[in-house]
Amino acid sequence: MTHTLAQAQELDRQDPLSALREKFWIPLQKDGTPYVYLCGNSLGLQPKITAQYLQQELEDWKNLGVEGHFHAKNPWMPYHEFLTAYMAKIVGAKPSEVVVMNTLSVNIHLLMVSFYRPSKERFKIIMEADAFPSDRYAIESQIKFHGYDPKDALVELKARPGEVTLREEDIHTTIRQTGDALALVLLGGVNYYTGQAFDLKAITQEAHQVGSIAGFDLAHMAGNIDVALHDSGADFAAWCTYKYLNSGPGSVAGAFVHERHHQNHDLPRFAGWWGHDKATRFNMRHDFKAIESAEGWQLSNPPILSLAAIRASLSIFAEVGMETLRDRAWRLTQYLRELLAQIPDGRIHVITPSERHRCGAQLSIQIPNGNKKIFEQITADGVIADWREPDVIRVAPAPLYNSYEDCYRFYEILRNAL
Ligand SMILES: *Cc1c(COP(=O)(O)O)cnc(C)c1O
Repeated sequence: MTHTLAQAQELDRQDPLSALREKFWIPLQKDGTPYVYLCGNSLGLQPKITAQYLQQELEDWKNLGVEGHFHAKNPWMPYHEFLTAYMAKIVGAKPSEVVVMNTLSVNIHLLMVSFYRPSKERFKIIMEADAFPSDRYAIESQIKFHGYDPKDALVELKARPGEVTLREEDIHTTIRQTGDALALVLLGGVNYYTGQAFDLKAITQEAHQVGSIAGFDLAHMAGNIDVALHDSGADFAAWCTYKYLNSGPGSVAGAFVHERHHQNHDLPRFAGWWGHDKATRFNMRHDFKAIESAEGWQLSNPPILSLAAIRASLSIFAEVGMETLRDRAWRLTQYLRELLAQIPDGRIHVITPSERHRCGAQLSIQIPNGNKKIFEQITADGVIADWREPDVIRVAPAPLYNSYEDCYRFYEILRNAL
C-alpha cells in the first residue's frame, strides 16, 4: 500500500486523541508553519496549562510570602504530595513507593548510596555498555567512592558482534555468571540510544536469584511505556520528568523505592530534613527519623515552580491514562516504521526492536556511513530530532502531541534528504 499525506491527515481526523495536540505549544518555523517536532524523548513540549500552574504559585508567593507554605491555594509544605498519586500511576507503583525530588543523576547517586553496598565478595555492577553517559559517570564514581576499581567492578552488557541491541538471554546469562559477586544490576528501562525496552520483571527476578539488587533508570520509559514498577519487584528506580513527561528543562525528577525497603532503617542514606518524619520535622531535633516511604529519601524542600510544571503535565496524563497513550504511541510508531520501510533497501536501518514489548515511541534510525549531512538537511527542512554519534537519528512520535501527519512529513523530508 502506498502512503500519502492525505492518508496521514485522514488518520489524524479519525483518531479522537488527535485533539490532545491542541493542549500543547508546538514550536513554529519562521514562516509560521509548525516544526515536525520528534524530540519529545529529549525535551517534551510545553502544555498550554503549565503557565497557569506557574502563575498560581507566583501569585501566592507575591501575596503571601512565607505564609504560602501553609496558605497558598496549593500549600507548598506538602506540595510534592500533590504529585505522588499521579506519578505512581504513570510508573505502576504504590503511592508510598514514589517521590518527586531532585534531578535524575542526583537520585541515582542517592539511591546507590542506599542500594550499592559492596563487600569484598560482592561488589560488581552490571550496566549497559552504551548507557547514557551520566549513568556511567555515576556508577563509576560510586564504585571508586567505595574503594573499588571500575575495571574489576563494572560488568558491561554488549550487543553480540554484528548486532546492535542486547539479547535478553545474554543479560540473564551475564547475571547468572556474575553470581555471588553481583551487588547491583542498574539498567535503563529503555536504552536511550537504541530505543530498546527491557523486561524489568524478568531482569529483577534473575538479579534477585543471585542475591543482587536491581535498579532502573526510567528516563526514557516514564510517560512512554506503561510500566508496572511495583510488580516488577525492582528495588529502586529514578527518572527525569522533562522528556516524555513534559515538565520543562531541568525539572525535578522521580524516584521509586520498593515498599519492602521502607522500614529498613539499617540502609545507609544521605539524609536531609525533608526526609525526616513530618510530625517532628520542625522541632529541629538532632536525631534523624526517616519517613517510612520513598519520601524518606528526600533531602531538601523542593522547587515549587518546577513541581507546579510537573503537576500541570501530570494532570493531562491523568486525564488520558497511560494505557491509552501507550496504545496511540504504538500506532504512531508502527505507522512511522511502515513509512520508513518504503525507503529503498540499505539506505537506512531502524535499529530499534520491533516487538511491542521491546520498544516504546522512539525509533533509532541508522544512517549509512554516519553521514551527518542527512541530519543537517532534515533539520534545515523543519524537522527537530536528534543526532547521536556515530550514526543514529533518533525520532519519537510522542502520543500526546505528535500526529500521523508529523510522521508522514518526517518520512518525506528524510527520503528527500537521502
Ligand atoms: C536524560 C537522561 C539523563 C539526564 O540526567 P539529568 O540528571 O536529568 O541531567 C540521565 N540518564 C539517562 C538514561 C537519561 O536518558
